[in-house]
Amino acid sequence: MASKFVDEIMSAVVARNVGEVEFHQAVREVAESVEPVIKKRPEFAKARILERIVEPERQIMFRVPWVSDAGQVQINRGFRVEFNSAIGPYKGGLRFHPSVYIGIIKFLGFEQIFKNALTTTPIGGGKGGADFDPKGKSDMEVMRFCQSFMSELFRHIGPDTDVPAGDIGVGGREIGFMFGQYKKLTNTFSGVLTGKGPDWGGSLVRTEATGYGLVYFVTRMLQDRGTDWIGKKVVISGSGNVAIYATEKAQQLGAKVIALSDSNGYIVDEGGIKLDTVKRIKEVERGRIKEYADEHKSAKFHDRWQDIWTVPCDVALPSATQNEIDQASAETLVKNGCIAVGEGANMPSTPEAIDIFHDAGVSFGPAKAANAGGVATSALEMSQNAMRLNWPFDEVDSRLKQIMNAIYAQCVEAAEAYGKKGNLVAGANIAGFVKVANAMMAQGVV
Ligand code: NDP
Repeated sequence: MASKFVDEIMSAVVARNVGEVEFHQAVREVAESVEPVIKKRPEFAKARILERIVEPERQIMFRVPWVSDAGQVQINRGFRVEFNSAIGPYKGGLRFHPSVYIGIIKFLGFEQIFKNALTTTPIGGGKGGADFDPKGKSDMEVMRFCQSFMSELFRHIGPDTDVPAGDIGVGGREIGFMFGQYKKLTNTFSGVLTGKGPDWGGSLVRTEATGYGLVYFVTRMLQDRGTDWIGKKVVISGSGNVAIYATEKAQQLGAKVIALSDSNGYIVDEGGIKLDTVKRIKEVERGRIKEYADEHKSAKFHDRWQDIWTVPCDVALPSATQNEIDQASAETLVKNGCIAVGEGANMPSTPEAIDIFHDAGVSFGPAKAANAGGVATSALEMSQNAMRLNWPFDEVDSRLKQIMNAIYAQCVEAAEAYGKKGNLVAGANIAGFVKVANAMMAQGVV
């Protein structure tokens, strides 16, 4: 049963943001978590901090016209939501996927505010993207799209204003094309985007950071249960950037990753996933996960990606997309003996699924905390760009590990301080919110 406080916040948010269901879901979770904070800190209520946080500081929508290889004019829609700059320049990725609309960008941008606050680095929250599908497009088509997208976005961003990065459908290739266009339009070589190539301003470890950071975070969750990765069976959804590097780090720490997926289905290899094959298929050939099973007879392909959660495992790392674990999938995971879930994707578990994990005593690491390693390393890229220096791999990796440990500690402490011991969802929301709220209080009504 929702409280009067949450009901009031939500009825205003739903009325002002009609049809944006993912955004409503993200706001509801935060509102429920921070209610006790606002009760304890009446100055936050008086300053209407939560009501202000749910309203983006700025939302930009724009036309992205481009020409296909066949000479046909195409039109996509571009977005950048600059949500909150209380603790630093807006920071958050760009998503290129046909499902993108303003509600998806707003849920992602809203979550980003609290995630970025948890990283201990000075970055505000934002997110952007387009309803463009890079799948099946030639490199030249992707380049023309990225150039057109940046021809509008460039006037809204800057190294001290708003620093986008990658997300679904935006990797090194897309960042390169967008960076080139920004440089040409502004005649500046700056740290305006993160996820750049290491030879032209990118940070080492950025490619690996979200997946590695997720595994570092879950390591802490397992330690608190008195265990570790050795011999654990792990199921990871997706086979993109986050999934690949979560697999790599989990394997390095002694786990056996047995399943991966994409939007066409999932593979199970009980002998353990051969990551070199996945990297070649996905990163070099831009192929489909099914091809893995064609190459390895030990593996089986199944064509419903949603069913990956029926594969029995000790640890589940959902790393594909939002709302991919529903109530039924959560029940199946629990029944099959899963002891820990770490969210690599943003909001991959529905609220009902999270309740099931909590009730069953499964250790649950929410996205805001568990996948914050990517943006944290982006902030380290910004620092290196500002200093015009490049840190070695081990230095960035060790900073990433320290940051993930610090995030874990903040979540645990905030949860305990507000009577929610062990609930890392509440802990992440509270710790992130308090930091941003304090900054907003200090800066007045702006
Ligand atoms: P990629 O584009 O590299 O990979 C996404 C993977 O998820 C692909 O295997 C894709 O399959 C699958 N997928 C995407 N959408 C769907 C869908 N609707 N149904 C089924 N499968 C789907 O993206 P990332 O790995 O970068 O991002 C994955 C998740 O992690 C996202 O939620 C993102 O927001 C989050 N994240 C990413 C960060 C980063 O640094 N990259 C940082 C923090 C969070 P297919 O190829 O078939 O589409």
